[in-house]
Amino acid sequence: MDEGCNEAVTEFFIRLYEKGLIYKGNRIINWCPDCHTTLSDAEVEHEDTAGKYYYVKYPYADNKDEYFIIATTRPETIFGDVAIAAHPEDERYKHLIGRNVIVPLVGREIPIIADIYPDMEKGTGALKITPAHDPNDFEIGLRHNLEQISCMNEDGTMNEIAGKYEGMTRFECREAFVKDLEDNGYIVKIENTDHNVGTCYRCHNIIEPRISDQWFVKMKPLAEPALKAAAHKEVELVPERFTKIYNHWLENIRDWCISRQLWWGHRIPAYYCQDCGELMVQKDAPKKCVKCGSININQDEDVLDTWFSSGLWPFSTLGWPHETEDLKYFYPTDVLVTGYDIIFFWVVRMVFSALEITGKSPFTHVFIHGLVRDAEGRKMSKSLGNGIDPLDVIDNYGADALRFMLMTGISPGNDTRFNYDRLESSRNFANKLWNASRFVLMNIDGDLTDEETAKKNYKAEDKWIISRVNKAAKDATEYLEKFELGMAAQRVYDFIWNEYCDWYIEIVKPKLYGADGVDKDTARFVLIKVLKDMLKLLHPFMPFITEEIWSYLPNTSERLVIAEWPEYSEEENFEESEINLEFIMEAVRSIRNIRAEMNVLPSRKARAIFIPSKDEAKMFIESGANYFATLANITEVKIVNDKTEIGVDTASSVIDGTEIYLPLADLIDFEKEVERLEKEKVRLEGELKRVKGKLGNEKFISKAPESVVNEEKEKLQKYQLMMEKVVERLEHMKK
Ligand SMILES: [Zn+2]
Ligand SMILES: [Zn+2]
Repeated sequence: MDEGCNEAVTEFFIRLYEKGLIYKGNRIINWCPDCHTTLSDAEVEHEDTAGKYYYVKYPYADNKDEYFIIATTRPETIFGDVAIAAHPEDERYKHLIGRNVIVPLVGREIPIIADIYPDMEKGTGALKITPAHDPNDFEIGLRHNLEQISCMNEDGTMNEIAGKYEGMTRFECREAFVKDLEDNGYIVKIENTDHNVGTCYRCHNIIEPRISDQWFVKMKPLAEPALKAAAHKEVELVPERFTKIYNHWLENIRDWCISRQLWWGHRIPAYYCQDCGELMVQKDAPKKCVKCGSININQDEDVLDTWFSSGLWPFSTLGWPHETEDLKYFYPTDVLVTGYDIIFFWVVRMVFSALEITGKSPFTHVFIHGLVRDAEGRKMSKSLGNGIDPLDVIDNYGADALRFMLMTGISPGNDTRFNYDRLESSRNFANKLWNASRFVLMNIDGDLTDEETAKKNYKAEDKWIISRVNKAAKDATEYLEKFELGMAAQRVYDFIWNEYCDWYIEIVKPKLYGADGVDKDTARFVLIKVLKDMLKLLHPFMPFITEEIWSYLPNTSERLVIAEWPEYSEEENFEESEINLEFIMEAVRSIRNIRAEMNVLPSRKARAIFIPSKDEAKMFIESGANYFATLANITEVKIVNDKTEIGVDTASSVIDGTEIYLPLADLIDFEKEVERLEKEKVRLEGELKRVKGKLGNEKFISKAPESVVNEEKEKLQKYQLMMEKVVERLEHMKK
């Protein structure tokens, strides 16, 4: 309602009007036949009144012996019937859609149509459609392009459409017409009912819905350029499938009723001379009538549909109709982000309004997102009380965690469920990043070495992490360009958690804890360099925590929000180091697995013997002793040519053809291990006996829910597997 927006709305209205694209036409309103006036919805009082349900037969046009039964409280409007409507999912009527029936005593043929409005639970579930005498029927009529047949005069008497009942009041007509229907066998039954009737707040007579003059926008000439813009990809919807909906809607568009009988809104810039009836559409109120000179002038009391002004948003917000600097610089823009539920209401109207005014599509892309539903997939609503207040969530989890959760695990245009587990893991991720950054900062003191010096001293792990963040930037950028926000966020998450935090920091820790020197300086330099890049990559998804961490980093004079996005650089692509580190990491994982399987404390030291599959692997292992010591507590690395050099008591694993052996004597205390395994065997025997007993019990099997029985079956399988392993290990030990 700002002055600027109001000016834009008025200007737009006048331009369309002068081009002949806005006109006055018919619309249904509340009418008091006694006061002879329209009433706004707020002026209608609703009362429960005793009335009657008349069950009326409508014979089929193709077989007059059969008929469709409709229950109505207002048989006097039957003269205006144009269709019968049933819900498309109503099994009783599905097969009848498309057939015609005959309006009793009137003789006109009308179709049976499908519409979502009829309530399947209410009455017969089907409705007679009388667009000129009921607001809901009017809307249904518009949806199906039905005729509007009015059978009453302004004073509530019947008109010529009602034939021999013309001139009767609506109530006299009801009585006479029902009697005739009964005499001709068209009434099945009449039931008493209480129904809600709208009455005039002034005279308390029953109001009569009536079609009246309203303002419309002629849509065909506006829809065509909007269709063309999509066809020529001047505006693209993402995901592409929404283009179909956009096109379908524009191809089938009807003229748009823009006048509303509400108090709040932009007023229609139309003025009427009270003396000669002249209509004047202009920006400012006319001082006198252009035709008769009268000063007795009133402005149209209607206001505009809210989407009439919202449709101008891409340029009205930039100062249009004035040629502002903002308009020149920012219009047209690139991306509009919105939900699929307002493609018709908003997106389409912005596109055709902008094309009409500027000749340009207001944006090149419309990125459509889904709706956030509750954990059970239901739409959040007041009546269900399942809404979630984002401010509460932010208080408990943080704004970044909420934002990250909403962006990950989604795909464009699809609904998502509000998920507290994912919210929690998003918060954990933020914590992980915070702790890792704190660790890095605690280990940075004094000036960082310069890039040239650092570059000369890069180790394989430094090149690896630099190469990896380089690739993460490439992938994240590609995902973002395709509007795959969730995939981009996940890619950045994986890099930060799995590569930077879990591996790189662990690998360089000994260097940071060691004496000052080139290695320490290089590690510090790379830790900061990569941290900066990953903060930039994460910034769109977690703006607050990244900006905060950024403010503590050395050599960051500007805010992160305006820092440059990291770009992929071929110079920082170290393919060989990546292969090298991948090998080391795989070997470390294997060693850790063996240790875990054998319940070896992480602190227990062990030796590792390798049989490399190729020269490259041999090289990696030779240079990798440090990694194995740091990451897997391996005190000695030995490389041999074949198995003959390895004893029998070993645990082993194979990675990419290279064999790894760990001498068992290093890992376990034989006597203690046998003792432990014997104990475990006894425990498992007990468990197995219990589960087998349960599953052998007829009563349990027949009475317990299937899920419980299945759970027991799964337990049996699990214990059997564990038992096999324990027995196998025991035999091995005893050998
Ligand atoms: Zn009245
Ligand atoms: Zn006049």
